[in-house]
Amino acid sequence: MSDKTPIDPIEYRPDLKKIRKRRLALWFVIAAYLPAMMIALDQPDYQTWVTVVFISWIVLLIIVVVFACLVRCPRCGECFHTHGPTFLPFRRCLHCALHVNADKRAPEAEHPKTKFAKKN
Ligand SMILES: [Zn+2]
Repeated sequence: MSDKTPIDPIEYRPDLKKIRKRRLALWFVIAAYLPAMMIALDQPDYQTWVTVVFISWIVLLIIVVVFACLVRCPRCGECFHTHGPTFLPFRRCLHCALHVNADKRAPEAEHPKTKFAKKN
């Protein structure tokens, strides 16, 4: 038997903040590639700089993707952005459809369906 009383999304705020921070870091690293590469290509010894920028960017990308993959949903406890081996940085939990801004929005009248939830 499970308790069906809905939990106020405000209680999820610290964990949702953590999810938002990791998502922001992911998008920041992805967006930083082009400007960093343009700066590297303007250097006199551009071949060295392009290599340094590319390797640094790949390492940073791996780190932020791993952190985004491992962040847990405060409602269901599953990985927020990961379903099986698939990493999908959507704005909703892939398991329970909790929105990443659920603590800032009005409560949803109807529980949204998850696209990737197991069929019962
Ligand atoms: Zn969830």
